[in-house]
Amino acid sequence: NSVAPEMDFEQAAHRTLQDVFGYEHFRGRQLEIIRSLVEGRNALVLMPTGGGKSLCYQIPALLRPGLAVVVSPLIALMRDQVEALQHNGVRAAYLNSSLDPAAQREIEQSVAAGELDLLYVAPERLLGESTLGLLQGVTVSLFAIDEAHCVSQWGHDFRPEYMKLDVLRQRFPDVPRIALTATADNRTREEIRRQLLPDGAETYIASFDRPNIRYSVGLKGNAKNQLLAFIRKGHEGESGIVYCMSRKRTESTAEWLNSQGVPAVAYHAGLDQQTRQHHQQRFLHEDGLVVVATVAFGMGIDKPDVRFVAHLDLPKSIEAYYQETGRAGRDGDPADAWMVYGLQDVYQVRQMLAASNAEAIQQKAERERLEALLSFCEATGCRRQVLLRYFGEEHEGNCGNCDNCLQPPRTWDATEPARKALSCVYRTGQRFGAAHVTDVLMGKTNDRLSRLRHDQLSTFGIGADLSKQAWHSILRQLLAHGHLQSDPEGHGGLQLAPRCRELLRGEQALELREDILPTSSKRKAAAG
Ligand code: ADP
Ligand code: ZN
Repeated sequence: NSVAPEMDFEQAAHRTLQDVFGYEHFRGRQLEIIRSLVEGRNALVLMPTGGGKSLCYQIPALLRPGLAVVVSPLIALMRDQVEALQHNGVRAAYLNSSLDPAAQREIEQSVAAGELDLLYVAPERLLGESTLGLLQGVTVSLFAIDEAHCVSQWGHDFRPEYMKLDVLRQRFPDVPRIALTATADNRTREEIRRQLLPDGAETYIASFDRPNIRYSVGLKGNAKNQLLAFIRKGHEGESGIVYCMSRKRTESTAEWLNSQGVPAVAYHAGLDQQTRQHHQQRFLHEDGLVVVATVAFGMGIDKPDVRFVAHLDLPKSIEAYYQETGRAGRDGDPADAWMVYGLQDVYQVRQMLAASNAEAIQQKAERERLEALLSFCEATGCRRQVLLRYFGEEHEGNCGNCDNCLQPPRTWDATEPARKALSCVYRTGQRFGAAHVTDVLMGKTNDRLSRLRHDQLSTFGIGADLSKQAWHSILRQLLAHGHLQSDPEGHGGLQLAPRCRELLRGEQALELREDILPTSSKRKAAAG
């Protein structure tokens, strides 16, 4: 467990890679990262999931004398990692709350006796005096802080214990630290540096680009029919994942796909363990099976030939979208990330925000994350550029492999109609949803409308020149761009948001994208 000084570093690293892990070559900048640690320097590693972060500390753990300590918040994954290492003959163990006291003592004894190369430990466990004391009595080779974005209050996985990890620098000043994450925007990255690596670190940022994935986002009509058409058009007989928000929807969609001749199974946390496992196994081993799932599906799924990931509902954030779509095309062959979304989705997202009672800073972060997601959905330019920019990466030019590149959307000057819509929302009292506002704009009466005397308003009928579809498109984009918001009580009302002022005052023009209407299923229904 130590390197003879005369042995060439690269040779030792390669030998470990081959002999212990069974791989021929390092990927990307793995070797450089390993060198940083082996030579005692800190490192910050940003690499997408599946990029190969683990080897970046596992190999130094074997090349440096002493015990490497890996901090990880994911108790469920610790055991998998440790078992995989043990399988390769590495002396690894984990310490967390899932172990009984006797098992814990046994591992503590192995640590004290210097019998381990790697110890995985949950942050709250590491921070306890007993663990810190134990580690101070042995040689620690390095600290690896996995899922380092958990230190950021701006992130979606904030863990307060991560903020206390600076104790490692104070108590083990000579032990190099490596912080790793797959999700970090610029702000989170700075926070990781400030809190976990204030003494400096070499930074390694791998590209987050997945050039073989084609991104497209369409307007939601009849989502199930759109999905079926999408599968039939280029993915018949291929494996794919379809994400839905609700458990019920995963089941009804899977059932319906089956009835249409597309083999599909559902997956969500409400299914019993056995069914879940069975469906997961089938997905992994069968060709051409579609899994219709909630976000519960995907962690640790490593199937290389997933040819598409479809979203029938909006994901929770851009990070979530990136993770979920990232399960497509791991083999490098062309794959699709396909999503449909509509007014209702934007409304729901806005609603969730309005109802959130998280702390102020987290609410602000939540809002910004959702704004970013909505801008991605409504983007009129290259989607890959928008996506990568979110991760702090610039994509040279247009990608040529997203819907907007392949078929540039048309935009139109919607300043006037947008003003009409905003004043109609205002005149009707900021209490009504898109359907009612649209009726007023188009001058359509109904009982409720006349009871409310909304046919007497100055905005009644001022938008008769546009279709219902067009008004929904305008309202959706006003919501998405933050000119409108949803009422905090969740009654479905649209309200003016501060950002609409310039527009109302005539100080700003507004270009909106012309929606391409999906092939309507209504027409078919009407015909049949
Ligand atoms: P991450 O933690 O970044 O999500 P992992 O460390 O789990 O990624 O690695 C993803 C997969 O890639 C694993 O199956 C791992 O064994 C494999 N892998 C990592 N590095 C290499 C390499 N140099 N050569 C071949 N396979 C690798
Ligand atoms: Zn593009």
